[in-house]
Amino acid sequence: MRFSGLRILKEGVRGNRGWTPHWRNPDPKPDYDIVIIGGGGHGLATAYHLAAKYGQTRVAVLEKGYLGGGNIGRNTTIVRANYNLPGNSEFYSHSLKLWEDMEQELNFNTMMSQRGVLNLFHSDAQRDYAARRANSMINQGDDAELWSRDKVRQTVPYLDFDNGRFPIYGGLYHARGGTARHDAVAWGYARGADQHGVDLIQNCEVTGIDIENGKLRGVQTTRGAIRAKKVGIVAAGRSSQVAAMAGMRLPIESHVLQAYVTEGLKPCIDGVVTFGMGHFYISQSDKGGLVFGGDLDMYASYAARGNLPLTEHVMEAAMTLMPMIGKARILRSWGGIMDMSPDGSPIIDKTHIEGLYLNCGWCYGGFKAVPASGDCFAHLMATDTPHPVAARLRLDRFETGRGLMDEEGTGSQHNLH
Ligand SMILES: Cc1cc2nc3c(=O)[nH]c(=O)nc-3n(C[C@H](O)[C@H](O)[C@H](O)COP(=O)(O)OP(=O)(O)OC[C@H]3O[C@@H](n4cnc5c(N)ncnc54)[C@H](O)[C@@H]3O)c2cc1C
Repeated sequence: MRFSGLRILKEGVRGNRGWTPHWRNPDPKPDYDIVIIGGGGHGLATAYHLAAKYGQTRVAVLEKGYLGGGNIGRNTTIVRANYNLPGNSEFYSHSLKLWEDMEQELNFNTMMSQRGVLNLFHSDAQRDYAARRANSMINQGDDAELWSRDKVRQTVPYLDFDNGRFPIYGGLYHARGGTARHDAVAWGYARGADQHGVDLIQNCEVTGIDIENGKLRGVQTTRGAIRAKKVGIVAAGRSSQVAAMAGMRLPIESHVLQAYVTEGLKPCIDGVVTFGMGHFYISQSDKGGLVFGGDLDMYASYAARGNLPLTEHVMEAAMTLMPMIGKARILRSWGGIMDMSPDGSPIIDKTHIEGLYLNCGWCYGGFKAVPASGDCFAHLMATDTPHPVAARLRLDRFETGRGLMDEEGTGSQHNLH
């Protein structure tokens, strides 16, 4: 079933009786060539690319809950390619290009909206760093503009420019950044993978990983044992728990990140505005809600819910930057489990176990990575060689110290990235 304007007209006239389910609901088969653990954005994108690009059709995605119920459906939907360091820079640049073609490729409306991302700065030192980062972005072939305080004021006049602690000096503007509808991304990749023959198996928790003589044999699940030649762990906040089933101790800590949405308001915020110094960022959804968030809750946890002190902190930051927000009423808040790595950058690599591959460490920035992560992880799993733009996302950098990508220079403390 393809979507098109004509199809929508036809279905409208026929009472919408011709739509079919987006994907099948198959039972697990006893064996597959490739099993992906985790039906989030990264797992589904990997399965799609494995099938669509590498012709791998004996593939299953095993999801312990329902597709899109994890972080892919909980994030604040910001997409950008504004990284500074080699490794991240080429990877996220590749990802943004894939975002720009995603709707055509998947024939699915992911509501990709390149409405611009503005990172504010509040001191001379921060302006210097923004200029350096802008140069890295331009060198990578992406767009960046350094905006003066006056230019920022023309675009977002409702900010508090003369705040005593955080006066606004200007901003780094990234026009091709923006937002996309998060769960539509999961649905689009799921539908695409299913169309290429991938089995998407929901309510199927992986409970064990079978290894013999250092070689992967398959997985144990709540729906029985499944043999596989290759298995990819793509479990985001649960990565450490799943890898522990293979006897691995990952350099990952899981932390909670919360987000909030207000009641629907008339359009007032065009793009994404970030206030890094106060740990606050905001955009407005197409339904009118102001969507915003802040920092991690600061303690390691597997509970996908947050605490009130952090809520208070985020509200304070919001009021500091944008006093007008005090008039809006919060409608909902939620939390997700972040797979925080020691340098704040991801891992896409083989493991020491033959046939077992790892994709994790997305911290709180993995939504924008979904298409490139799927593309690069599929490349690695299909060809056993790293994709050129993901070649630096190696696991052994935490063992040797070589190739660490600490964008913020905060050192090896997971919750500070
Ligand atoms: C509040 C919040 C705001 C965020 N904002 C942004 C943002 O604006 N921009 C951005 O780029 N990123 C953002 N992120 C980060 C982004 O959402 C994540 O990095 C990304 O979604 C993680 O990858 P995923 O989609 O594959 O994860 P998930 O959707 O969590 O997928 C992992 C899946 O694995 C499954 N699983 C776990 N264990 C097992 C098992 N044993 N067996 C089977 N299945 C298993 C889980 O059920 C889950 O569905 C945000 C996250 C949160 C929580």
